[in-house]
Amino acid sequence: MSNQLRKIRRNGAKKLVKDFRKTMANEIKQKFNMFDRIPEGCMICNTPFDRNSKEMAFSWKVFVKQDEIRLYCPECFEKGEKMVEKLKEMKDGV
Ligand SMILES: [Zn+2]
Repeated sequence: MSNQLRKIRRNGAKKLVKDFRKTMANEIKQKFNMFDRIPEGCMICNTPFDRNSKEMAFSWKVFVKQDEIRLYCPECFEKGEKMVEKLKEMKDGV
């Protein structure tokens, strides 16, 4: 009898650990889901983005707009910023 009880208890603990691991895995998956959806390259010049490169991860610009993820390489981002500045200047000039 006691043997059986121990078995049940052991299985219960195993299940708990399994459930816990499952929950953790799901949470991690959800967090990385966004990462998975990052485009493969720059939206403007199509330079491929290397997800394993820490340098790229820090220098490239990622914008999340609702469900859409936009990715720009540093060069295109700089160009874009300059264009925004120019547009501002144009507006101010009017
Ligand atoms: Zn680019």
